[in-house]
Amino acid sequence: MACMLQVIALSFFLQIQPFDILIQHAHIVDGSGNPWYSGDIGIKGDTIVSMGRLDGAPSKLTIDAHGLTVTPGFIDIHTHARRGIFLDPAAQNYIRQGVTTLMEGQDGSSPLPLAPFLKQVADAHPAVNFGSFVGQGSIRQQVLGLENRKATPEEIGKMKEIARQAMLDGAMGLSSGLFYVPGNFTPTEEVVEIAKVVASFGGMYISHMRDEAAGVLDSVRETIGIGEEGGLPTQITHHKIIGAANWGKSVETLKLVEEARARGVDVTIDQYPYTASSTGTAALFPQWSQAGGQKALLERLAAPDERSRIKAEIIQRIKVDRGGGDPKNIVMANCSFDPALAGKNLADITAARGRPVTFENAAETAIEIQQKGGCQAIYHAISEEDIERILRSPYTMIGSDGEIPEFGHGAPHPRSYGTFSRVLARYVRERKVLTLEEAVHKMSGYTSERLRLFDRGLLRPGMKADIVILDPAKVQDKADYANPHQYAEGVRDLIINGQVVISNGQLTSARPGRILRATPAVQVK
Ligand SMILES: [Zn+2]
Repeated sequence: MACMLQVIALSFFLQIQPFDILIQHAHIVDGSGNPWYSGDIGIKGDTIVSMGRLDGAPSKLTIDAHGLTVTPGFIDIHTHARRGIFLDPAAQNYIRQGVTTLMEGQDGSSPLPLAPFLKQVADAHPAVNFGSFVGQGSIRQQVLGLENRKATPEEIGKMKEIARQAMLDGAMGLSSGLFYVPGNFTPTEEVVEIAKVVASFGGMYISHMRDEAAGVLDSVRETIGIGEEGGLPTQITHHKIIGAANWGKSVETLKLVEEARARGVDVTIDQYPYTASSTGTAALFPQWSQAGGQKALLERLAAPDERSRIKAEIIQRIKVDRGGGDPKNIVMANCSFDPALAGKNLADITAARGRPVTFENAAETAIEIQQKGGCQAIYHAISEEDIERILRSPYTMIGSDGEIPEFGHGAPHPRSYGTFSRVLARYVRERKVLTLEEAVHKMSGYTSERLRLFDRGLLRPGMKADIVILDPAKVQDKADYANPHQYAEGVRDLIINGQVVISNGQLTSARPGRILRATPAVQVK
């Protein structure tokens, strides 16, 4: 009887409320980490309105997901998409992996002011949702330039005001890149002062730490301390252990995270699943040599004393840090002054200049490259064991640290094309480091909760309809270091804000992405 009434009630509801999209016969992995269950999903407008058994319900579009897995759209908490989103608003490298939301403004670098930039992104009509952090380095640069000194109280006041405005503009929180110039010139207490402003809005702190190699433990302590002192959630971004001599230290970094959490500090982690990192060739140079910018660096390189100090530091970084002990491990990705260098490593380039490949000569080559403006490069110096240990931590979510590359141009890190699919293919299906449910949680529900995007990241009635339909047996990253420009496979359909962006593997013309702002952008104190 009750069942009959339910059917009547359901059909009455459905007669007046046909769905726009009905996904049927799915294995639902809902983003919470719960085991999959069978069911149907009804979407109206941009929202999931019903879930459960919806057999025969009227719908403008019905998608049969039999044999496939349905998950929330993936949220990438760490991207550098601010250039590429205008070149390819479809963000095809990301949507092919099932990514439906991109976060910019990482590593301490963001556009300022934020509001006009976010409007520009909206005007480009992206397929994906887009949000941004505000960068501590960008704030400092606006007030102090690239100077290597402490800020005055007045300057700190100015920086706090810029941070406040960015939060009002919708920033998700404060990012820092304390490894990079000018973040590296910032004392911890100054970061804490800015973080307190962000805390008052309910925002989080996320950091590319000062040192991911020999000093990684102190850097984790600093990141935890900024969360503790600043009174806000804190996150170690793209957590990795660089340099063979430091491999295994993730045992201790994860212990520091556990201990901090045990005493009430809200600290979390994100990670990409590759044994190489990617950043500018400036990463081989001591930070002090970059104070004041490129012109100042060139002057220092022209002074024999300073040049030899810089060179000694570069040699050290090739030996025990990002260079992974061999100039071969440093591969150019994109060089604006000489695009032909893309894909070539520092040993090859040194040899091609007629020099024997020694650490000294490789450092000379690095100096010549930097004198011409530098390259983006890939550094092979991370161990598989550390990746898997960090990935297993319940406090780790997934972020690509990627960009929207110009398709076919240069030799970028494959993480832009493959991060999310690689986790599902290699670390779920092949190596069984995570269950599918755990992995999806780390790409959706966990991330949305961290970002306070409370209407996304889970498949539940009332949530925004960002939905991936994928085949877990076929999902596969295709991009590798030699051939990075290859889209991932295995996502059959993709829905963003209730609109179909990928249908049966084909891109549609829909561009339903929205600007996402921290909720609410209102001071809680
Ligand atoms: Zn970074």
